[in-house]
Amino acid sequence: MSEKYRVRFAPSPTGSLHIGGAHTALFNWLFARRTGGTFVLRIEDTDRERSTKEYEQSILDGMRWMGLDWDEGPDKGGAFGPYRQSERMDLYRKYADQLLSEGKAYEKDGAVFFRVEPGLHVNFHDEVYGDIDVESENVSVNQDGTIKDIVIMKRDGMPTYNYAVVIDDFTMGINMVIRGEDHVINTPKQLLIYDALGFKRPGFAHLPMILGKDKKKLSKRQGATSVFEYSDMGYLPDGVFNFLALLGWSPRSGQEIFSREEAVELFDIKNVTRKPAVFDIEKLNHINQEQMKRMDPYALLEAIRPFWKQMGLPVDKFSDEYLASSLKVLGGRGQTTIQAAEYSDYFLDFSKVTERYDGKDIKDELRPKLKKIYGELIEAWGDGSFEHLHNMAQEIFTANESSMKEAATPMRWALTGRKVSPGVFEVAGQLGREETKKRLEYYGLI
Ligand code: GLU
Repeated sequence: MSEKYRVRFAPSPTGSLHIGGAHTALFNWLFARRTGGTFVLRIEDTDRERSTKEYEQSILDGMRWMGLDWDEGPDKGGAFGPYRQSERMDLYRKYADQLLSEGKAYEKDGAVFFRVEPGLHVNFHDEVYGDIDVESENVSVNQDGTIKDIVIMKRDGMPTYNYAVVIDDFTMGINMVIRGEDHVINTPKQLLIYDALGFKRPGFAHLPMILGKDKKKLSKRQGATSVFEYSDMGYLPDGVFNFLALLGWSPRSGQEIFSREEAVELFDIKNVTRKPAVFDIEKLNHINQEQMKRMDPYALLEAIRPFWKQMGLPVDKFSDEYLASSLKVLGGRGQTTIQAAEYSDYFLDFSKVTERYDGKDIKDELRPKLKKIYGELIEAWGDGSFEHLHNMAQEIFTANESSMKEAATPMRWALTGRKVSPGVFEVAGQLGREETKKRLEYYGLI
């Protein structure tokens, strides 16, 4: 029987969950769920000055927001705990003592140094980057090019990253390490320590870097921000998940829009690319819009409701049924939930329409004709269904020697205050006879 995979996401709680971290977490999650393995969350809080409980909490919240659940972690426990490095000091001490007693490490100025022996080859296979082979002379070097021994315990008694990560990955039974490409350079250092302690090595898969559209390191403006800022900007967890999954990976089938479950089905670490991935906000917008279209209208309503409220719209005056069907009429317009909230404001508040549109462009000579047409349409309202209104309108427009363009345009403006909207008869049907009449009356069109 083959061994079950145990992977981990090991963030340092020195900031919120940003795009790079979320990307790493997501690929670990996909790999664990795809292979039926275990996803461990470990908090790397050995930087006592910069680590905070608030950031730890915000990382956990960020992962939950993205829909990434873990099987073991500081909040959940598990058989390999504790899951915070600050609570595992005895282990770091114990293995440092072992290395010291075997002469593989030495103490100097109160710190513990791991001795890097010359003449060794450190080679390993990376699932993404292939075979890597480094001579021990080049694993850790001083500025003048000479071998530099690796600090494993600092003077203050805290372990260094390259050491603690080895002790933890080994003692937590991690057998596949999936992390950012910036850690390829650390891997040989870590492997020397694995080998010196006689630990079985895990597998490695490094993920490509994420670059801004300008091909430079992600800047604050271009994605190096917390996942919650994306939530505030109107992106859905499903949109961000789908978008991040496509950074450095794509299903063999080329499918671009998928749910978490579909991604798990499709995921194969062999299809991760080495090429740096580009963070393209236009692509995120597109994916987010597609995810919004896939959503159940009632779920979409819950995503949009807070933004309607923020805009001061009287959401509580309407039934969920009315609001959800308004979103159905909106028909997938808007790339973010904020845009969808804006584009649908006229369903909730006529004053948004009157703020945008004063009706001054309606030609006086056209008014009598329009009044007649709209009056007849209100009379012929029937069940208010789109089909019915559309058919009646066509008949009435023709009978009055008018056209869709001539007669539907002022109506669209009067109902929505916008040049572009869903079909005007769908909007009218959704608003209802009384509200439609009231809006037409306001502009002197009835
Ligand atoms: N705490 C490290 C980081 O956030 C973990 C790196 C690793 O996965 O080994 O970069």
